[in-house]
Amino acid sequence: MNQTLAIIKPDATGAGRAGKIIAHLEEKGFKVRAMRMTRLDQRQAEAFYAVHRERPFFDSLVSFMTSGPVIPMVLEKDGAVAAFREAIGATNPEEAAEGTVRKLWAESIERNAVHGSDSDENARQEIGFFFSDQDLLSI
Ligand code: GDP
Repeated sequence: MNQTLAIIKPDATGAGRAGKIIAHLEEKGFKVRAMRMTRLDQRQAEAFYAVHRERPFFDSLVSFMTSGPVIPMVLEKDGAVAAFREAIGATNPEEAAEGTVRKLWAESIERNAVHGSDSDENARQEIGFFFSDQDLLSI
């Protein structure tokens, strides 16, 4: 599996950081195979983050993720899931390594600029959440 699902989150789209983040990822060797801008409604955000339903930050996370536009993307690279997690850094930007997307552009543990799938199985499921096979394009 050489694809992962990335989302540029509302903090980054709202602050005009989407272009910088996409350029950074292309420079790291990720190829964009599909991309669109959309706004999640509450039902969609709750479904996407269903695994976190019992966490204390769930309502706040859903509220944040529906607060503005998001840019879901299918990114391709060898070992895409692990490579992308490395490129974005730790969930909490204070703990993220230098040069990672979250270190460079995240605002807080919640408003952390990007989402990345955490396993191949979840990548497949999350890609299917936003895109169909016809949406995937080769450059
Ligand atoms: P990720 O895989 O690095 O995105 O992290 P998780 O899957 O653990 O959490 C999903 C998302 O929930 C994170 O990207 C943050 O936006 C948010 N989040 C995670 N932990 C916390 C927390 O402790 N507090 C708050 N407010 N949000 C959190």
